[in-house]
Amino acid sequence: MHATAPPLETRPTDSPCEVRHLTKRYGDHTVVDGLTFTIPRNQVVGLIGPNGAGKTTTMKMLLGLVRPSGGEISLLGRTIGEPRWGDALHRVGSMIEAPPIYDRLTARQNLQYQSLAVQGAVDDAEVDELLRLVDLAGRADDRPRGYSLGMRQRLGIAITLVGQPELVILDEPGNGLDPAGIIEIRKLMGRLPESGTTVLVSSHQLAEIQQACDQLVILANGRTVAQGTTAEILSGRSRHVFRVTVTEPELAAASEAFRRNGIPVSERIDTTFLVEPPADVDGRDLNRLLSSADVFASSLTRPEVSLEDAFLELVQQPDHADTGAHQEVIPS
Ligand code: ATP
Repeated sequence: MHATAPPLETRPTDSPCEVRHLTKRYGDHTVVDGLTFTIPRNQVVGLIGPNGAGKTTTMKMLLGLVRPSGGEISLLGRTIGEPRWGDALHRVGSMIEAPPIYDRLTARQNLQYQSLAVQGAVDDAEVDELLRLVDLAGRADDRPRGYSLGMRQRLGIAITLVGQPELVILDEPGNGLDPAGIIEIRKLMGRLPESGTTVLVSSHQLAEIQQACDQLVILANGRTVAQGTTAEILSGRSRHVFRVTVTEPELAAASEAFRRNGIPVSERIDTTFLVEPPADVDGRDLNRLLSSADVFASSLTRPEVSLEDAFLELVQQPDHADTGAHQEVIPS
């Protein structure tokens, strides 16, 4: 593919998009509340949060479709609001809500039509390449009316890619898709950075897009509650927790041993305790204190915190007021 938009004079930046203290209020309802994040170039970044978290509003502000109440957005080196900042939008593709498809045109014609909207025509070779990229080469001359939802979403993404944008912004591209359709969208997004396109994609379901993302920005109630790689988010959440299983006759003695040694039990299910000892107490110490009470654990493990658990915990916190809107990762 070749770039069709004229070169843009921009300040050099490693990030196609940076957001600082971004806020949006509707009346007295603050729907985006001091968001701060950076999208690294040539990565797939997931903007993830439950329904109503403020994802679409944030994306619309990045695209100049909604006016921010406060804060700063830098898009491809231009600060939104400064003279000629709109030039940056020629280098940004977007799909907000429904894909921008004309049902009376074939897939190929939809792409050719879109090329009129970006500056300069896109040649046939680029259209063919885009159709191949989204696995629609075999249906290029069909009208999208008969396409599956997944094919329509893929055509929508191809339309956003006309003119080889530096950044594409995709709002919930997996919405309504079956698992196979979601996997196809994930694979497609994963291929985009290879040709120099950075991706910002939103979803209310972590599992849907997490595997395709290099970085995650997790939102709740209009605030960033965590951001970073999966490993970074998890490392901030890992608790010093052990799962200890004993036999039925040892239950009371185990309970008493934990109590006597100041080991908090956060949960007990049947004969399994979930205990949260101080950081300097390890599995050997727990074994030792149990055996000194004549209790011999049949299993003693440290459960891993899954990203799904961390996500649910982060977005379900009733009030994020004390977490800091710009915090990279919230410690547990
Ligand atoms: P979803 O996953 O459901 O799409 P979202 O994270 O994209 O949710 P937004 O669509 O950005 O969330 O909405 C965030 C909040 O802002 C919601 O409470 C919504 O009702 C409110 N909101 C959005 N647009 C407007 C508007 N034009 N006027 C008033 N409130 C609005």
